[in-house]
Amino acid sequence: MTDPKNWKPETRAAQALGWVDQETGAIVPPLHTATTYEREADLTYPRGPIYTRADNPTYRQPEELMASLEGGAKALLFSSGMAAVASAFQALNAGDHVVAPSAGYYGVRHWLSEHGARSGLSTDFVEPGDISALRAAVIPGKTKAVWIETPANPVWTITDIRAAADIAHEAGAWLGVDNTVPTPVLTQPIEFGADVVMHSATKYLGGHGDVLAGVLVLREQGELADRIEAIRHDAGAVLGPFESWLLLRGMRTLFLRVNTASINAERVAAFLKDHPAVERVLYPGLPDFPGHDVAARQMSGGFGGMLSVCLAGGQEAAVGAAARLKVFKRATSLGGVESLVEHRASIEGPDTPTPENLLRLSVGIESADDLVADWEQALDGV
Ligand code: PLP
Repeated sequence: MTDPKNWKPETRAAQALGWVDQETGAIVPPLHTATTYEREADLTYPRGPIYTRADNPTYRQPEELMASLEGGAKALLFSSGMAAVASAFQALNAGDHVVAPSAGYYGVRHWLSEHGARSGLSTDFVEPGDISALRAAVIPGKTKAVWIETPANPVWTITDIRAAADIAHEAGAWLGVDNTVPTPVLTQPIEFGADVVMHSATKYLGGHGDVLAGVLVLREQGELADRIEAIRHDAGAVLGPFESWLLLRGMRTLFLRVNTASINAERVAAFLKDHPAVERVLYPGLPDFPGHDVAARQMSGGFGGMLSVCLAGGQEAAVGAAARLKVFKRATSLGGVESLVEHRASIEGPDTPTPENLLRLSVGIESADDLVADWEQALDGV
């Protein structure tokens, strides 16, 4: 019981692995703002840190905690979720082939099409959740990375992580999973065969809408982990120490927040699905949602705080309902303590596959009664 490694994940998160400062007894780590560290007279660095682009003591706890919660060998913090995504793909070589989802967080598609293509990566985009399409898209020996996001933003399509991992590994590729939405509270992709787990830590991990950050967790130490760490060091997409400190503070309450958001989302989904103004509700927790069975297998303890609602009256009804919401704030991003609503099609642009009548909800930790009442009054006007 004394070894924090044996504690339940809730305890590891709440106590940030049980760290206590040996010198002062402080139970909250200090913020190391130093960019450079003293060498010994013999020019060595026996205390570890050299320069903050390589490492910063403030990273250690959030990185160790993330590796521990995801069941990985190593975690690396980045200056944003997209910096983490880009660093993973930059570890590939020109000429390598990638398979990634045709829907899901649009920044990943955009990065691969624009910047990945320019640096010599070729990418095939496949329908998220379609395992046969994924199998058909990989090219054994040439495909070096398969990327999935589950549930996938913003229609929450579920992909079977184990099946995707088997396909990737047979082809000689690593599997990367964007685990931003479920968080390790609900899904640990490494358990199902993932090699790289990515988070926009800006979302649930930070949890309070005040940190931009990203994390990669690697299943094992080795060439891929070393390459990614070198890219972070050489290109400098490191997290600032204050952001790192805020991230750790947020992660201490991760379980409470994700569990409450999940319970609230279930309440909101249950209310919306029976409302006459609603065409359909997209939420993996609903028993008739396609992929619900796979979600139930790989998500434990809930289906998360994210859902989308398509209104029967089309785009106008959707935008009108969003305008009348009072508790839900109209804003992008997700995974904070406060509930947010967003008309995704208008921010994703003309090529978006997202339906025009869809509103994406990031359900927060407020009273579920207030959240349901807010939707009740907003839909009254439809
Ligand atoms: N992945 C998902 C699922 C996201 O929602 C986001 C941001 O919205 C990202 C990746 C990118 O993360 P960041 O904005 O921290 O760069």
